[in-house]
Amino acid sequence: MSVGSATFHSVFLGPPGAGKGTQAKELVDRGDVLHISTGDMLREHVQGGTDLGRQAKEFMDSGRLVPDELIISMVDERLVRPDAAGSWILDGFPRTVPQAEALDSSLERAGAPLTHVIYFRVPHEGLIRRLTGRRTCSDCGAIWNVFTKPTREEGVCDACGGALKQRADDREDAVEQRLQQYNALTEPVLGHYSDRGILVEIDADRSPEQILEDLVSALQEASI
Ligand code: AMP
Repeated sequence: MSVGSATFHSVFLGPPGAGKGTQAKELVDRGDVLHISTGDMLREHVQGGTDLGRQAKEFMDSGRLVPDELIISMVDERLVRPDAAGSWILDGFPRTVPQAEALDSSLERAGAPLTHVIYFRVPHEGLIRRLTGRRTCSDCGAIWNVFTKPTREEGVCDACGGALKQRADDREDAVEQRLQQYNALTEPVLGHYSDRGILVEIDADRSPEQILEDLVSALQEASI
């Protein structure tokens, strides 16, 4: 399955743990798509010890959102790089209404509007388990879960043998804070897009294969 020749500018929206990053990585493996994850970008800044990383770390570790002005300029700068000229998926941005408004203005200036906002709908009850069970391979980035997708050997990646890590913000107290921030600040972003005809709702409480199938057909439907 590929995403075909459609060019799209897509936002993946939904609570933490809904599977947005996992699905974006699958789509990247199938076609010519750029995955822009603001969480991944921020984690690279933290690891690299940049100014932005130093400012963001405290917010991230406690499960709070990084201030809008920091994140908006980071995304603006990312979207003007040459590799963002084709299809892309924005994963984890926008997460507040001011971020959505800033994205609208940037894309309007660039003459390259959003083609899809994909809403990953999942029941919130299972999210704490999905997040606290999540482990990421420190070598290849594969995502596992001690409850729902365990590796053969605990702590070792099935794909490459790398060591698995738990993100600091996947611990229970930070997870609760992240879900609260989602409800208060990110859910209203759905309303921002609801009357534009680009919002597509996907039932993300199914197998990864079924979700991927729906995503591919949604992304093929409307394109630039
Ligand atoms: P994620 O990997 O998308 O769950 O993001 C991890 C953390 O990075 C979040 O809990 C926030 O602290 C921060 N972050 C990522 N994207 C954003 C955003 N669009 N706005 C504010 N903070 C963000």
